[in-house]
Amino acid sequence: MKKYGIELAMACLLLLSFYILSREAAQTAGNMSRSESSQVILVDAGHGGADPGMIGVGGLEEKGINLEIALKLKKVLEEKGFAVLMTREKDQGLYDEDSRNQKAQDMQRRIALIRENSPVLCVSIHQNSYQDPAVYGPQVFYYEDSAQGKTLAELIQTELNTRLEVKRPRSPKGNKTYYLLKRSESVLNIVECGFLTNQEEAGLLQQEEYQQKIAQAVAEGICTYLREDTFK
Ligand SMILES: [Zn+2]
Repeated sequence: MKKYGIELAMACLLLLSFYILSREAAQTAGNMSRSESSQVILVDAGHGGADPGMIGVGGLEEKGINLEIALKLKKVLEEKGFAVLMTREKDQGLYDEDSRNQKAQDMQRRIALIRENSPVLCVSIHQNSYQDPAVYGPQVFYYEDSAQGKTLAELIQTELNTRLEVKRPRSPKGNKTYYLLKRSESVLNIVECGFLTNQEEAGLLQQEEYQQKIAQAVAEGICTYLREDTFK
């Protein structure tokens, strides 16, 4: 009986030391993420509320897919230690109900959020559509005159093409007319995750697992960008 008593005591001691060690490790990780979290990233889920965005196969609305992917991206980035600011976390626009021009007010408020919070970078999540249902694949847009925007777009595009195993990979595209790209005072990319007008891709974009892959790809591109940026 006595022998078992000692063994039991030893086992308890071992468990206790494991517990203390793992707690210390968790605290160290916590400290690291706090120092990184001075970097705020803005995640914008496109459209919302009265504005459904693009309508795809079977009446599939862009706003819902945008939000689901944006929320997953928020979670992945927070797990990496970043502070994330969302433009919306529900099915709503950023306009007042009685606004005369809800769309304009909505866009202005997204830009105002960027101006007020000066995030290190912004990612706006959207879905694409096209008259030809054969067209598919993710594509990242950046403000044409922004070298930083282009670098970020290239890194995110590469991650998307690789992780989603895109058969005919697209390249990032510069643009000078999109309101968000034009007006954002922080580096901003618009990520068109796929085409809601392509039967196969529309199906994939509704799957949790595929959405998670997109979120991880975008987060990985962001991390690489910020790592490289620190050494400049
Ligand atoms: Zn959109």
